[in-house]
Amino acid sequence: CAVLLQSFPTQVFIKSSAQYTAWDASFWSQQQAAVQPACAFQAAKAQEVAGSVLLSRLTQCPFAVKSGGHAAFTGSSNIQNGLTIDLQFLNSTTLSNDNTIARVGPGNRWVDVYSWLETHNLTAIGGRVADIGVGGLTLGGGVSFFSAAHGWACDNVQNYELVTADANILQVNLNSYPDLYWALRGGGNNFGIVTRFDLITYPQGLMWGGAVIYTIDKQSALIDAFVKFGNDVSQDTKAAIIVSFIYFSGQEISISSLEYSDPVTTYPSIFQNFKAIPAVSDTTAVQSLSQITKEFKVDNPDGLRESYWTFTCKLDADYLTFLTDLFFTEINPIKGVLGVLPVLVLQVIPTSTIKQMQKNGGNALGLNPSDGPLVLLNLAFRWASPQDDNAIYSTIGKITADAIAEAKKRGVFNQYLYMNYASQFQDVIAGYGPVNSQRLIDISQKYDPKQVFQKLQPGYFKLKGAPDPNYPS
Ligand SMILES: Cc1cc2nc3c(=O)[nH]c(=O)nc-3n(C[C@H](O)[C@H](O)[C@H](O)COP(=O)(O)OP(=O)(O)OC[C@H]3O[C@@H](n4cnc5c(N)ncnc54)[C@H](O)[C@@H]3O)c2cc1C
Repeated sequence: CAVLLQSFPTQVFIKSSAQYTAWDASFWSQQQAAVQPACAFQAAKAQEVAGSVLLSRLTQCPFAVKSGGHAAFTGSSNIQNGLTIDLQFLNSTTLSNDNTIARVGPGNRWVDVYSWLETHNLTAIGGRVADIGVGGLTLGGGVSFFSAAHGWACDNVQNYELVTADANILQVNLNSYPDLYWALRGGGNNFGIVTRFDLITYPQGLMWGGAVIYTIDKQSALIDAFVKFGNDVSQDTKAAIIVSFIYFSGQEISISSLEYSDPVTTYPSIFQNFKAIPAVSDTTAVQSLSQITKEFKVDNPDGLRESYWTFTCKLDADYLTFLTDLFFTEINPIKGVLGVLPVLVLQVIPTSTIKQMQKNGGNALGLNPSDGPLVLLNLAFRWASPQDDNAIYSTIGKITADAIAEAKKRGVFNQYLYMNYASQFQDVIAGYGPVNSQRLIDISQKYDPKQVFQKLQPGYFKLKGAPDPNYPS
């Protein structure tokens, strides 16, 4: 830190300075904001990122890398007593001459990218909440409203500018380094630090979307509508949904987020089953993508305790009914926890999305079109105080373990674990399957023989094992 401070006095924040305190509060979750690095370095160029990797190696100083800071668990993108490399100033945005590629720095939040592209009637495949970072979302996968048509964010990166373990700056694409290009599509922070993502653009004007709130007596109708949607969406890939079951302020409710990439003025026919369910409120309207992401940001404030967990199953109404009932039963003992907000989120991974994942040599996630359609589950719990951590973690751990056991029993289990929704107790890379996880290990050893990104950057999902092997009980 002292060397960095000498060379970059305005870009390095040392512990206890006012700037450091403000910077450390800029993580989404309380758990990450509680981590205190020795210093934070706001690199503004790829060469500065490369220099800090070299310096870390030279001094054996452990480091972490932060893009939007939305990974929830401790140490994902911040490191106690180490160096946190913050990419916030790597926030350039440029369009290729023919407007087909948007070159964006990892310091951008998705709302910045969308607002800029909207001035060109274009969009890119990225996150659905305004201030999610381009970096973490894209390296772990990246579910977008447009994924049924185009795949996930990682499937729509034409080129990565990558700082490697030996501080080289590579342009990684299908032609230059096909193995590394494959590994970066789902491999997380294991292969280097991406200093620019070259994203494929798509024409996009206004769209239709918003959130619809239902009382919990609509649970069964919502699950049926969700399953029908999952079976139909590969034939109408303009549509996307997220169905959430929530315990909020003493009430069980459900919220559906419905989107369609055309600016339709009435519910598109693929959503007719949702329209038939009486709702408490409905914000669906013609609006821009950036407006929708801002609407969804309101429900996801910074500064609280957060835990995300995930698993994947086949699209099956009976199983989803079992799961929703299990969720509402198992949260009973924690309903008194201060500020608790437990959410069970259901999303479809349509067969059309999995087909898109096979383009350009495929991604590392290990999903096959013959597996689809799948359901991506996300248990997202929020609460206020560290004293309740154990109660919350053991509750989510039990729901997840019981739900997976039942999915296996019913033959609806899929081994895939989505990195961007996984907890520190889950082994994401193993979920990509033995062939893909071994291939990732081989590629890591080829480009990073000293295993810098496994050992010196210890946070988040490494290639072997869960970040925390002590599954809560
Ligand atoms: C409110 C909310 C909404 C969300 N919405 C969506 C959604 O719509 N779709 C979806 O798929 N996911 C969504 N997620 C999950 C999200 O994708 C993950 O939390 C993701 O990790 C966030 O990326 P980030 O850059 O903000 O996080 P960070 O914490 O900055 O990064 C996450 C990990 O990626 C690494 N990393 C980041 N940038 C780089 C880089 N340039 N080079 C190397 N490593 C890097 C970090 O070191 C860290 O390990 C959401 C999460 C939240 C909290």
